[in-house]
Parts: sequence; structure tokens; C-alpha cells
Amino acid sequence: MGLIVRSSDIHAAGVYTTTPVKKGVHIVEYSGPRITRERADELYEGRPYTYLFGLDDGVNIIDGTGIAAFINHCCDPNCEADEIEGRVWIIAIRDIKAGEELSYDYNLYDGDDDPCICCCGAKKCRGTMYTDEEIERLKGLAKEKKLETVAAGR
Ligand SMILES: [Zn+2]
Repeated sequence: MGLIVRSSDIHAAGVYTTTPVKKGVHIVEYSGPRITRERADELYEGRPYTYLFGLDDGVNIIDGTGIAAFINHCCDPNCEADEIEGRVWIIAIRDIKAGEELSYDYNLYDGDDDPCICCCGAKKCRGTMYTDEEIERLKGLAKEKKLETVAAGR
């Protein structure tokens, strides 16, 4: 299996496979040091792009340093990121042809003011990299903010 990083139609740089990949193959590990959420906030406050991956424990985050950190989000992806015994693997969810860009659904959460706009171009693009639940939560927050503004204006 060969992976290369080159400019992407989705966003900036992306990861491409130079060989066909069968569905179910563990393609590459999302590798990097484990840091806490607090440390990540300290390190990356105000940065537009980060390569962080939140682990299921809700405490630790992988500060991505490997090639997997360059894989772009897509709303109709060909891979998924799966945590297995504390390690995160990028796994093919369908057969992938040589030359295709790899992608997985980031399913972002913990949003604040950043809209995390998605331009993946998939037919069923959500327009954002957040999960459906997070979109609902952010809508709720926006509503609350509006109400506060109205109250303060009285
Ligand atoms: Zn999209």
C-alpha cells in the first residue's frame, strides 16, 4: 500500500492511495502524542487548523503528527476512523481505487464560533463538519444568545 500527500480538491493537502485498497483494511494509524484537552487548548488557542483527534475517554486527544492527520473530512467518505484499544485507525469502508483521495467523516463536536464549513462536494454534504447533534446544539446556543441580546436591549 502506498500513501502520498498532495494538494486536494477538498481542502489544502490531502492523502491519496497509489494502490487499490479493499474494504475493511486498516490503512494507517492516526499517530501522535497523547495530550489532555486543557493542553490542546493551551497549544492551539486561536489557530485556524489543528490536527487533533479526541479519544473516546473524553479526556485525551491525539496531537496528530503522522500522515493520517492530513486526511480530509468528507460527508460521503471512503474511510472511517475507529478507536481500537486506545489507538485510532483509518479503516476503508468500501473498496478504494488507486489514485483516490482518502477521507473520513470528522464528526466534529465541541464547536464554538468556528462554523467549520465543509466544501467536500459530496451530494449529501452537510455544509459543516459537525455531527447532526452538534449542529442542533449550536442552533440552541445561537437561539439563547439572541434571547440574551433581546433582553439586554430592553
Ligand atoms: Zn461535506
